[in-house]
Amino acid sequence: MFEKIQKNFGFGAMRLPMVNGRVDLEQTTQMVDHFMASGFNYFDTAHMYLDGQSEPALKHCLTSRYPRESFVLTNKLSGSCFEFEEQIRPLFQSQLEACGVEYFDFYLMHSQTRRIFQKFQDCHAYEVAMELKKEGKVKHLGFSFHDGPEVLEQILTKYPEMEVVQLQFNYLDMEALNVQSRACYEVCRRHNKPVIVMEPVKGGKLAQLPPKAHEIFAGLGGGSDASYAVRYAAGYEGVMMVLSGMSNLAMVQDNCGYMQDFQKLNSRELEAVAEVCRILKQQEQIECTSCRYCTEVCPQQIPIPELFGCMNKMNQGDPAYMAEYQKVIAEKGKKASQCVGCGACEKACPQHLPIRKLLRTVAEEFE
Ligand code: SF4
Ligand code: SF4
Repeated sequence: MFEKIQKNFGFGAMRLPMVNGRVDLEQTTQMVDHFMASGFNYFDTAHMYLDGQSEPALKHCLTSRYPRESFVLTNKLSGSCFEFEEQIRPLFQSQLEACGVEYFDFYLMHSQTRRIFQKFQDCHAYEVAMELKKEGKVKHLGFSFHDGPEVLEQILTKYPEMEVVQLQFNYLDMEALNVQSRACYEVCRRHNKPVIVMEPVKGGKLAQLPPKAHEIFAGLGGGSDASYAVRYAAGYEGVMMVLSGMSNLAMVQDNCGYMQDFQKLNSRELEAVAEVCRILKQQEQIECTSCRYCTEVCPQQIPIPELFGCMNKMNQGDPAYMAEYQKVIAEKGKKASQCVGCGACEKACPQHLPIRKLLRTVAEEFE
């Protein structure tokens, strides 16, 4: 159906390596080169990623260096970037320019929830996107999704023109009430829509397992923790692509290694995944994926994902949790207690986390 795509593993450009607040272009170039040389060609970005640095980084490292027909580039229309229908086309044009391309292979309505879908309808965003497709500026349309199966059903019924759905899908979220990966996946299958998987390693959580869980995979005799999570997601029927937001060359090398000749998990490996799930579910963890949508809107610049990371380390019994907290405070200069309770972060959080309440707990524990 999408013949240009070479393999089922994609490069997410939302967690690129950073040096002093800027994308490390040298390392990103090496990552892109290794990825392309390994036979992969799918890249995913959005205007808002890395405070606007993701698109120009891809222009520098990918689109200005490789022929247009050699890579597949997906971009997104983010609700935080427009308020009115008239702003959508200029925004789209600025995205083309920032990425240095004449068209996007896929253009996704970004992070759809019941509330955001309403805004997109009010602004006729889907209709504008369909016009862009007719004009050849977009080859395929779809949306990324962060709500329950009923809302997904509603969108696919209203807009059958959408060709793909990007879902949060990983072995820990299959039945999670705030994500419902399995139920959403089943809606996509009923509508015959290919699935693009995001967060297969749950913001890195499944790539660096606590020791007890890590030992289960280590006992299988090979493969990183991340490899089991990515292969798990890629093994589902109808999953056309698994994205990973990679942050260094070693991650790209690891992922390209086991995905080059993709093998589904065998029954022994699936049993190990079930055991790891059981261990992880026993731990009290904040289900933050470090997507940073909250920090983009926080007037206080509270380092929300970093603080939640410290809390998770503490709950895992990791002795480094306090040193990590002190490092976060030294680098970011803001504490949980500086939250003014405006709630903007909770509206932006795709995981629907009660951020204000959780920050109060962080303040109680650490301050
Ligand atoms: S509620 Fe607190 S953490 Fe959330 S956006 Fe407002 S100030 Fe920031
Ligand atoms: S709290 Fe929510 S919005 Fe913020 S980084 Fe975590 S998952 Fe993303």
